[in-house]
Parts: sequence; C-alpha cells; structure tokens
Amino acid sequence: MLDGGTEHPEAVQYLAGLCALTSIAAVWNKWLIILVVVIILFIFRRSRKKLSGNKPSLWDISFDNVSMNYAISKARGLIQNPPDERANLVVTLNAIGMETTIDDPEFFEIVKESAMILADGSGLCLGMKILGSPVQERVAGIDFAEQLCRAASSENWPVYFVGAAGDTAEICAQVLQSRFPGLIVAGTHDGYFDINDTALPDAIRESGTKILLAAMGQPRQEKWVALHRERLGPLLAVGVGGAFDVFSGHLIRAPKWVQKIGFEWLYRQLQEPSRWRKNLRLVTFMLRIFATKLGLYHRNNK
Ligand code: UDP
Repeated sequence: MLDGGTEHPEAVQYLAGLCALTSIAAVWNKWLIILVVVIILFIFRRSRKKLSGNKPSLWDISFDNVSMNYAISKARGLIQNPPDERANLVVTLNAIGMETTIDDPEFFEIVKESAMILADGSGLCLGMKILGSPVQERVAGIDFAEQLCRAASSENWPVYFVGAAGDTAEICAQVLQSRFPGLIVAGTHDGYFDINDTALPDAIRESGTKILLAAMGQPRQEKWVALHRERLGPLLAVGVGGAFDVFSGHLIRAPKWVQKIGFEWLYRQLQEPSRWRKNLRLVTFMLRIFATKLGLYHRNNK
C-alpha cells in the first residue's frame, strides 16, 4: 500500500478495517467474506486516488508522510523488489535543502523524481505545519541511515559508504559494524572526487551493494547518484549529508532535548563556525514560509 502511494495513517486504518470486517464475515458466512473483501478493495482503490493528491507538500515537493518504521519498510520493498534497473534515490530534505531546490532547478527535478522524500529538520516540519500541510513525524537522514544499517545487518545487504574527508567513511563503517555486528561493508570512499568519474559507480555495482550511503552534502550527493543511476544498478541510494562526520565521532550530534526544541542547527553551528553562511538560509526559509502563508510567494521554476 505504501509503495502504491498510500500514507502511513491511512494504510493502518485500511488494514485494521479490513481485518475487523473479514473476521466478522468469517464468523458469519464465507461467501460474505468474498463480498466484503471485494467491496473494501473497491473503496480502497477509489480512496487511494484521492489520497495520493493529499501528500504533505511544500513548494511543489510532496513528502512521504511516513514514520521511521514505515520509511524502513518502504526502503525494504525498494531493495527487495526494485522497480527498475536503476538506483532508487531517497532524499532527506531540511529547510536548507528546500532553499537549494529553489535556487537549483536541476536539484529540484532530481528531488521530484526520487523514490522517497523524507522530511528531515525541525525547521522544515515547523514551516509545513504553519502552512497547514504537516508531516506526521520528522525522519532525520542520520537516524534513517542508522536504522537501514540495522536492517542491512540482519538481511545481509552489503552497504557502501561514500563521502566526507580522508578516512571518515572508513571509520564510520567500522563504528556501524561494531554497533550492528554482521553488517557487510561493501566498500568505502571519501567524497572528494570528480563526480563525472565512472570508476567508483562501476566498483559499487560490481561489489553487489544493496544500500549506498552518500554523504557529500546537498546537492552534490544527489546529483552524483542521479548522474550514475543506470551505472549503479538497482540499489537503494540515500543522501545523508554530514552523517559520517557524526558516526565517526568527528562531530557530536545535539542531545535529544536540543533536537526536540529545534536547535540542532545551532549545536552544529557551534562546532563548525564556517557553517554560518549556510545557516543564514534558515532565515530566508522562514521568511519564504511567511510570504507563502500571506500568499506573496509561489514557486515558479516548475
Ligand atoms: N563533502 C564531501 N565532498 C564534497 C563536499 C562535502 O564529501 O565535495 C562532505 C563533507 O566533508 C561533510 C559532508 O559532505 O562530511 C556534509 O557536508 P555539509 O555539511 O555541507 O552537508 P549537509 O549536511 O548540509 O547536507
């Protein structure tokens, strides 16, 4: 259902309703079971059409309204039954990433065509709430990557780590391997290379990678995956920004309470003073939210 575009809360409601009705019918009459199932499937097909237009969205980008568990289930589906022979990209967007979609039409198109778009960042979630199109939960790229590695270790899905400087990707892979024993590391590579080079995508495909974690910052990581989608083959690629720096211990992630009150960006700013220019974009994002609320802003790079 999730793969078909149904949102998490509606999927739960449909399945609960289906189970309840079929159990009643089972006690009653078996022909009734068939009738009830047919009616429910008919209603579900009709509602799905309606619901697919109701995804939470911001500036022409529709987000997957999923919890972490559902995001992992959807990822599992994409890994086990890839829709085609190309890499499926998961984009995790925060407020700064949204601003990038406005300045960079190529990135905007890549995001729109991705297999999953997750709302990462409390600023983004707040903005969507203000505009009356909230997501049910923030799914941060770094948490998603960690949960994917947990699933990969039990499913034997090889994971490739590309991004960050020096040996950070290697350290990150070792840390995750110690956290999830059995995690198969297909390979590691730093994130400073010519994105047109085809040697790395070829090596990734040959390694049998099922999950590619790309941590080169937005939009570089997404553009690199999009450029080599065919060459990479049917794996799941996830853009995870600065996650390797955190896993490897080079950066310290904000405590949970700081994340909850929406000041994770400030915590990172204090550790990376050169990030101030990027963080200024949080101000433009909030101004754009209020301009949208007042009807003064509409995206025009469709
Ligand atoms: N990075 C990289 N290649 C580059 C530029 C950046 O691998 O050409 C890495 C950088 O070392 C850092 C990560 O990308 O580990 C995240 O960068 P940034 O903080 O800019 O990304 P964001 O989290 O804002 O998407």
